[in-house]
Amino acid sequence: MNFLDCYQQAGKIAAEVRENTRKKYHVGSTLFQICQSIESEVIVKGAAPAFPVNVSLNDVAAHYTAEPNDQIVVNDTDVLKIDIGVHVQGYIADTAVTICYNPKYDALVKSAETALNEAVRIAKVNTKASDIGKVIERAISKQGFKPIQNLSGHSLEQYTIHAGRSIPNIWTIGSSFNLVSNQAYAIEPFVTTKDGQGVVFEGKVRNIFSITSRKPTKEKEIDEFLEDIWNRFKTLPFALRWMLGKYEEKTARQFIDALIKKRNIHAYPILVEGNGKMVAQAEHTLIPSESYINIITV
Ligand code: MN
Ligand code: MN
Repeated sequence: MNFLDCYQQAGKIAAEVRENTRKKYHVGSTLFQICQSIESEVIVKGAAPAFPVNVSLNDVAAHYTAEPNDQIVVNDTDVLKIDIGVHVQGYIADTAVTICYNPKYDALVKSAETALNEAVRIAKVNTKASDIGKVIERAISKQGFKPIQNLSGHSLEQYTIHAGRSIPNIWTIGSSFNLVSNQAYAIEPFVTTKDGQGVVFEGKVRNIFSITSRKPTKEKEIDEFLEDIWNRFKTLPFALRWMLGKYEEKTARQFIDALIKKRNIHAYPILVEGNGKMVAQAEHTLIPSESYINIITV
């Protein structure tokens, strides 16, 4: 398979899994059950998760995944962002849906989806990233909401989710770039309410990790653990629960902590809305073409 076929395959699976998740009733399920079920479905369909499923509730915008046996339960007033990554040979499709059990926030969710739809409609070869930001901001403001200004879409490369280029969710003056062909980009508006700050801050919880260095620590067991992570995930993010089975939870946690201290592993903090307000998200991955719009996660 050439790389474009890998992207299309990853995108097709990510879209199917996202739509199945959208249709399900999650109230009463634990975040652990939701993550496990989505990740298993990706594997059954013949691909692999590109990162641990993000299940971010309410004012948490992103980067929460289930702890081993996470007992947090979805309740009937929650706004739940489910962000799914699928890869085929390292080529990643990144897509997200917001599931809303509080009718008060239906319009918030809809504004993220509308902004995404308007943004992908203009995303072709040579489209300016700043124009995408402008379209997103305008669509969100028009509906009386606020974009999260310090979260953005991104270019993707093989085994790399954030590959250097950012696609803003607001209109920014100054440096921009034009979309190029054969390059994958994720577009992902995040929206909060008028009384939100429109900015996210790092929270205390960190339960998504990725390798930043393979430099040996000279502790045999930890170095083997590090090599195991490298062999399974390369530079892609992983979760503690993915290391269990082969390792005891306590041991795996100790090894991860040691590797964070040695700077072999980066831990991603959760991202929380500055005023503690609700956040909704929508996301697609696309590969621009001159003549048509190629959204691989539709
Ligand atoms: Mn995503
Ligand atoms: Mn993304």
